[in-house]
Amino acid sequence: MFKLAPYAVASENSRGRRFADDAPSHRNEFQRDRDRIVHSTAFRRLEYKTQVFVNHEGDLFRTRLTHSLEVAQIARGIARALCLNEDLVEAISLAHDLGHTPFGHAGQDALNECMQNKGGFEHNLQSLRIVDQLEERYASFDGLNLCFETREGIIKHCSRENALKLGELGERFIQRTQASLEAQICNSADEIAYNNHDVDDGLRSGLITLEQLEQVESFSRYITAVRQIYPGLTERRLVHETIRRMINALVCDLIETTVGHIARVKPESLDDVRQSAPLVQFSDKLGEAQREMKRFLHKNLYHHFQVLRMTSKAQRIIGDLFSAFLDDPRLLPPQFQSEENQARRVADYIAGMTDRYAMKEHRRLFAVGEI
Ligand code: MG
Repeated sequence: MFKLAPYAVASENSRGRRFADDAPSHRNEFQRDRDRIVHSTAFRRLEYKTQVFVNHEGDLFRTRLTHSLEVAQIARGIARALCLNEDLVEAISLAHDLGHTPFGHAGQDALNECMQNKGGFEHNLQSLRIVDQLEERYASFDGLNLCFETREGIIKHCSRENALKLGELGERFIQRTQASLEAQICNSADEIAYNNHDVDDGLRSGLITLEQLEQVESFSRYITAVRQIYPGLTERRLVHETIRRMINALVCDLIETTVGHIARVKPESLDDVRQSAPLVQFSDKLGEAQREMKRFLHKNLYHHFQVLRMTSKAQRIIGDLFSAFLDDPRLLPPQFQSEENQARRVADYIAGMTDRYAMKEHRRLFAVGEI
């Protein structure tokens, strides 16, 4: 049987769930968490939410759902190589983006702007709110009642102010300790996944070109190698052969650098992991290569005028919806009308929308002749 490292999170040592639940049969606690996430409504919505491109712009671009699957695939490979808990890593990866608004980061920024002075909006915290409160599926509790370790992994970062409201989940941000290695892996896998798939989607959309990307060292090195081995390859295959090498190099570097840190720090338990500096790291060289690629994508893809047009439209849609609902909460579906904290319920409603649903709601509220 596969043996976990002594500093891995073992499901039998979980800090448990908020509400007592019977022990699962034939699966461990983290497998059950993963299954609950996959069956949730918020998970299905990820199919129609985007990262960079809007869902209707093309059928081949990544959505939050395919992104989450890629993160889970990368993270599981890393976890297995490091003898860490693959089931926990899978659960965290699949849940990590549940709280995202429609229209990617533009949507989150717009909603956060609307929620200034009302507690703000942050997608990590919203993911937690979904799994802790908003999913309505079980008879005896709200949310999915996930294990502490899965919930902890969902909260990647958090302000001190918010951490104080999170109880034991917030403690590590106040005491400046680390999350499990499993949670750390998911953060790195997220980064590997989006950097590389944004390159792929960026090329496919035609918003960035191979010539531009060849200015980035970590791309040009691999495309040159592929061209040498396979001269005359079609562009699609050339791009894929390049990207698979980039992903593989990052994954191998992350594993090897982390093995080095573990050998140096010698953690003997999960507690040692929590007390030490973050152990899951890229080498300085590949860390810098990642940052270089991020800078390239920011400049050339995320700030491409065609992306910015969509971004600005998304911000307008979210801002309009928020104002209309907060000004007259009677326009909201009844379950989102609230005497206590109407702004938060408006944010919940908007954050839960898919890209196309948000556009449809906007038309229903603002377009003359639409009902
Ligand atoms: Mg992500």
